[in-house]
Amino acid sequence: MNLPLPVPTALSKPYWQALSEGRLVFQRCSCGHAWLPARRHCPACLGSDLQWEQASGKGRLLSWVVYHTAYHEAFASRLPYNVAIVELDEGPRLITNMIDAYDQLRGDAPVQLAVQHEDGVALARFRMDTGA
Ligand SMILES: [Zn+2]
Repeated sequence: MNLPLPVPTALSKPYWQALSEGRLVFQRCSCGHAWLPARRHCPACLGSDLQWEQASGKGRLLSWVVYHTAYHEAFASRLPYNVAIVELDEGPRLITNMIDAYDQLRGDAPVQLAVQHEDGVALARFRMDTGA
């Protein structure tokens, strides 16, 4: 069974386009607030003076869960797999997967962007940043 994949919209297209080029981008408002995923208005001030900005790809692992049960058939062969929350150095947080084995994950540890492709779609995943 195929993995359920994201369907880019006009709003999110810059995000997916950048990932296909190996870059992670997020939106920033003229008030300074930055976030993911894409929105039409700033969640801090409701302004609409927004720009896309490229992330460094560095962040930290805030939290994660490890699934031992597949709630969708397409994930059965991936068990156990993790779903993580990463906070980018620039501030935005995203729900993602860590590519490291789950017993290697450490809370608050530095992480680095690792773009991976699934059925031709580039996805923002992360790996532990050991500084190597
Ligand atoms: Zn704002």
